[in-house]
Amino acid sequence: MKVPLLDLKCQYATIKEEILRVTEEIFESQYFILGPWVESLEKDIAGYCSSRHAVGVSSGTDALLISLMAADIGPGDTVITSPYTFFATAGSIVRTGARPVFADIDPETYNISPENIERVIGAMTGEEKACLKAIIPVHLYGQCVDMEPILEIAEKHNLFVIEDAAQAIGAEYGKRRAGSMGHFGCFSFFPSKNLGAFGDGGVVTTNSDEWYEKLRKLRAHGSHPKYYHQIIGGNFRLDAIQAAVVSIKLKYLDQWTRGRQENADKYRMLFSEAGLDATTNLPIEKENRHIYNQFVIRLAEKRDALRLFLQNEKIGTEVYYPVPLHLQQCFSYLNYQEGDFPVSEYAAHHTLALPIYPELTDDQQRHVVEKIKAFYY
Ligand SMILES: *Cc1c(COP(=O)(O)O)cnc(C)c1O
Repeated sequence: MKVPLLDLKCQYATIKEEILRVTEEIFESQYFILGPWVESLEKDIAGYCSSRHAVGVSSGTDALLISLMAADIGPGDTVITSPYTFFATAGSIVRTGARPVFADIDPETYNISPENIERVIGAMTGEEKACLKAIIPVHLYGQCVDMEPILEIAEKHNLFVIEDAAQAIGAEYGKRRAGSMGHFGCFSFFPSKNLGAFGDGGVVTTNSDEWYEKLRKLRAHGSHPKYYHQIIGGNFRLDAIQAAVVSIKLKYLDQWTRGRQENADKYRMLFSEAGLDATTNLPIEKENRHIYNQFVIRLAEKRDALRLFLQNEKIGTEVYYPVPLHLQQCFSYLNYQEGDFPVSEYAAHHTLALPIYPELTDDQQRHVVEKIKAFYY
């Protein structure tokens, strides 16, 4: 039995008619960039994410970049983030000319730990503190960071909070939605995210009218009106086709999220029945509404051998992420060493993402668990 890590064809089959209808409409209109489809999606996303505004952009990476630009972060500034995340989080910081400063993660959620942020800031000189401008918490795998203490730290040190919610659309922290708690919320419509486009796309949410206007300007080369530039932006525009596809999918997002949550529950039951609880260290839900972009287990032993074994059994898995950012070659100038962030380093060597997409069948899930059992026993 084949169990891919993600099967987008299944999902497409259920919405094909709607998609083809709207794409034909767009082709007939020949209106491809921004415009009514993007505006309509922005309203829907703002509502879904409990934010006042949303600005459609060209990718999740650009959502991060444009938020940093809106916050005027640049050369000489530093930004605290997690070393255990997708590259774009730290890559965007560097692209503004600023410098990332890492703080290690919580071993249970894999999210940046507020205590470690405090420790990192506590060790800074007065001069270094003056350079610190923002924190980018990353809601990894679909579970929110412990935000309350981070918002307090940010308030105390006068820092921007830019949520990297690329993996967490609809995730909740108490009653608050991912992307609505900081100054900016950054989302990605990369096809493998829970709400994916048919190409690249993203969105920034904000509760501030002022930042909203600035984001809209930055998205179109900083111009307002057209051809009059007060600030320097870029081409961060979202295509109408991507907006229309995402708008259609948004109607089904809660249903798909429930499917992922039910699959997570089923894995818990199956792993427990198989006597594998202690071996597989299943995800811990500390914050409410985990949306399971990924279902990540942690294996004390033989992670890579298990992955190879499952691959030979046609079961797709992935390692998110094999090299923590402080050990990436391109960041060697930051002078971090192996051992600086032991929790992230351990996670990089011991975690494995299993298939969790909503259309996964009962038989497929049982098969995954049976094969993992066969490997360890
Ligand atoms: C996917 C992702 C991004 C980047 O999104 P793109 O749309 O691929 O540019 C940024 N941060 C995290 C945590 C992500 O998972």
